[in-house]
Amino acid sequence: MKIGCVIIANDNHYQYIVNDNHYQLTREIMKKTIIIGYLLLISFAGSLFANEVNIFSARHYDSDVQLYEKFTAKTGIKVNVVSGKSGALEKRIIEEGADSQADLYITADAGRLGAFEAYLQGGLTSAAIKSAVPSNFRTSKWTGIAKRARIVYFAPERVSGSELAGLTYESLADPKWKGRLVIRASNNIYNQSLVASLIKNNGKGKVADWSKGMVSNMARSPKGNDRAQILAVAAGEADIAVANTYYLALMLSGKKGPEQQAAAKKVKPFFPNQDGRGTHMNISGAGLVKGAPNKANAIKLVEFLLSEEAQNHIVNNTFEYPMIKGVSPHPLVVNMGLDFKQDLKTKVVNYGKRQADALEVMTAAGWK
Ligand code: FE
Repeated sequence: MKIGCVIIANDNHYQYIVNDNHYQLTREIMKKTIIIGYLLLISFAGSLFANEVNIFSARHYDSDVQLYEKFTAKTGIKVNVVSGKSGALEKRIIEEGADSQADLYITADAGRLGAFEAYLQGGLTSAAIKSAVPSNFRTSKWTGIAKRARIVYFAPERVSGSELAGLTYESLADPKWKGRLVIRASNNIYNQSLVASLIKNNGKGKVADWSKGMVSNMARSPKGNDRAQILAVAAGEADIAVANTYYLALMLSGKKGPEQQAAAKKVKPFFPNQDGRGTHMNISGAGLVKGAPNKANAIKLVEFLLSEEAQNHIVNNTFEYPMIKGVSPHPLVVNMGLDFKQDLKTKVVNYGKRQADALEVMTAAGWK
């Protein structure tokens, strides 16, 4: 509509001054305006009919690019990827507002997707998505595409089987672990989601006390990423660590170098809360961005990510658990044991809802 107005306005101007001395100059301006008008029209039509989808992804896996190429080969839909850290991607989507070209926001952690819900829209409700993903791992605005568990790692020479028997997240605050535990800082989203799940199950007051117990059990002030916690146990700085499942497999694979591979062999995984609700589960997921210019294509891409082909590709490259049934994780993850009970009772949507409370109790306890 804007384009039409520009041309018409110029045309009026042309008629008004047609006998003027500036006739030649005006004709030139008019020609240029018409050309610009046509170019705008072409690009506008192009954006209407372009068969593409725009992903804002916080996942930094080269393997994801190969996955998108497979999707394009199958559907003809071009995939444009903007990569970055989740905070930066979220900031950009918020700042660009209605002008944002983002269709899908792909990131790790349900807490992150949950906290960003105001900028997402419903629509991930197709039969394909609903049948692929159990309801506790999705909302209408975002859905899990792969799973991970946040578990305990221990040094077998310093932690006995009887000490571990019946271990729960709750009992990590038991004084018997004093000075023996490593876990990363409270600003870490994985910890915030774990603590949010504890609040959902036990109440904020109990988890406030639990956080104090955790802090007094720490072998050191929290530092480093999940792999750094596993390394600390391997190095004898602590007896137990909390970290996500895929990191041990990543280290064992040798992709992080021979030192981390050797260290990973010195620790063993333990899946907490087996006698109760099960081990804390989280997701990598995709959210449908509000105002997505290619909404239908975004839904198609999510459905593709949940296909057997894509799931096999994801789990073999990231060491996560598949979101769908019938796909086996990477052999190194299979070796960690698959027969553990997952917490399928606590809906992951609670991780976002209880995030502020989680951070509050950890901070109040002096959890760095
Ligand atoms: Fe991670």
